[in-house]
Amino acid sequence: MATRRTFLSKTLGLTAASFIGAPLVGLAPARAAQDNLQPPPDIFDAQALDLEFWVKPRTLTVTRPQSGEKASVLYWRDGEVIDSAYEQLCHLLRDVNGKETAPIDPKLLETLWGAQAFVARYGIDSPIEILSGYRTPASNQRLREQGIPAARQSLHMEGKAADVRIANLNEEVLGGLVKSFRQGGVGFYYRGGPRGGWIHADTGLKRTWKG
Ligand SMILES: [Zn+2]
Repeated sequence: MATRRTFLSKTLGLTAASFIGAPLVGLAPARAAQDNLQPPPDIFDAQALDLEFWVKPRTLTVTRPQSGEKASVLYWRDGEVIDSAYEQLCHLLRDVNGKETAPIDPKLLETLWGAQAFVARYGIDSPIEILSGYRTPASNQRLREQGIPAARQSLHMEGKAADVRIANLNEEVLGGLVKSFRQGGVGFYYRGGPRGGWIHADTGLKRTWKG
């Protein structure tokens, strides 16, 4: 990451007291949207992470609700992506509908892993649910026809975007955290119901939107 150097000069500075006030879990998505809650900036800011966080081996645990797959993949160690594990993750983030696999931007994997590793520090060790990863143009078009939010030039078609959620973590907090990695765009999709909405994360232009 471009700002890795700044990690050296910052400390995480987490305390139990600062954590208590944070509406981390169990907050209804609708209410989060309504109150326009922002994640506590000092806690959910990836820019405050220490270098140690970034140099440790990276294991990404994901599920695909659509296909029922689940895997925990050690994909990065000693500063390098592990090829076979990278291929496994590309497969997991494939187009489940179109049955096609494509290369996934390693920066996207870094953001997903970073978000997961970050909240794991707070005892949230749920897998990242991948609702959508790579999409073939045909799959993307089908979603558009079904009225499901999908951009015409979606970065999903370039392996640079994923729609994700983490159980019991509301969209506001997860989206705010993903945004703090400064790797690209973040879409907040608030939805009612027990499973809530999702976050779109990509490695394109740095921008945010609500969908
Ligand atoms: Zn998306």
